[in-house]
Amino acid sequence: TTRIVLAARPHGAPTAADFRTETVELPAPQDGQVSLETIYLSLDPYMRGRMSDAKSYAEPVPIGGTMVGATVSRVVESRDDNFTPGDYVLGYGGWQTHSVEGTGHLVPLDLHAAPLSTALGVLGMPGFTAYSGLLTIGQPKPGETVVVAAATGPVGSAVGQIAQLKGARAVGIAGGPAKVAYLQDLGFDAAIDHRAPDFKEQLKAATPDGIDVYFENVGGPVFDAVLPRLNTYARVPVCGLIASYNATEAPAGPDRLGLLMRTILTKSLTVRGFIQSEFVKDQLGDFRRDMTAWVADGKVRYREDIVEGLDNAVSAFQGLLRGDNFGKLVVQVSAA
Ligand code: NDP
Repeated sequence: TTRIVLAARPHGAPTAADFRTETVELPAPQDGQVSLETIYLSLDPYMRGRMSDAKSYAEPVPIGGTMVGATVSRVVESRDDNFTPGDYVLGYGGWQTHSVEGTGHLVPLDLHAAPLSTALGVLGMPGFTAYSGLLTIGQPKPGETVVVAAATGPVGSAVGQIAQLKGARAVGIAGGPAKVAYLQDLGFDAAIDHRAPDFKEQLKAATPDGIDVYFENVGGPVFDAVLPRLNTYARVPVCGLIASYNATEAPAGPDRLGLLMRTILTKSLTVRGFIQSEFVKDQLGDFRRDMTAWVADGKVRYREDIVEGLDNAVSAFQGLLRGDNFGKLVVQVSAA
């Protein structure tokens, strides 16, 4: 296999020197294992966390270890009767061209049901994150205003569209005019650019009745603009804080913790963080049923940003943390 390993823990934005490509021979699969050829590798913001050894909800990738990640793969050799060479599976092969995996966590994929790559995006973990976090914590009601940033990504775009299916108004925040135009095309009730100099005014105009649900994907200056517009009893599912994933020090300016806590108190806010895995046991079945139908009916649309070749994984990942991706970022490692 050709694989990309963690060479060093990044300080700030990951550099090319933090990764190393190597080619090694994989062991043959043992009983209960399969050997796989990677078709698609998912690149996700959480991988920045795995590169760091700061305490978190998951173990870091060790130095010299293969970068982790969800993969869609084809079975090459099987030592499990439930899997046959040629089958497609969702697994966790990481940043490499081939993997050997135990079959316990593999999910069989039907080549004809949906494009294989959707198992990493709208029909996979990011779609589930949007569904579970929005419906369980955000609980949008008809007529309410739901705001989400990173709104063209797989989590944000699903959040906005599910909010609308529940009768709420969806306001999307994204970086740059092309992404804003895409959100308008998707049917978001309003779309605004967080890089525009008048972003705060745009947010105010887009939320004349305030904000009832803010699905937090980014933090940073976007959150600063959202906070004063939250309504009494607003819900804030805290899903991600990508604006600070590369941060090496606290943000400049006055300490805003007092303002935050006062707003939580005086507006009776519900601010609730979550990792999607906590909802898998209870909600994955409902998600698969609902989202598969919504996608099939065109009620939830999705966009993918497919990068060719494992060689381009590092630069694509660096771009993800800057907003260069436009849609769910996936590496096509080999042909389906
Ligand atoms: P996206 O495809 O949306 O990619 C990240 C996007 O974040 C970029 O395209 C960019 O969009 C935006 N962004 C990057 N840097 C900044 C910045 N400094 N300020 C504002 N926006 C920025 O990713 P996902 O949909 O996969 O993930 C979205 C969020 O959800 C992330 O925070 C991720 O960590 C989180 N997440 C959490 C999970 C959980 O279980 N809690 C599970 C899955 C994801 P733009 O150009 O529009 O600014």
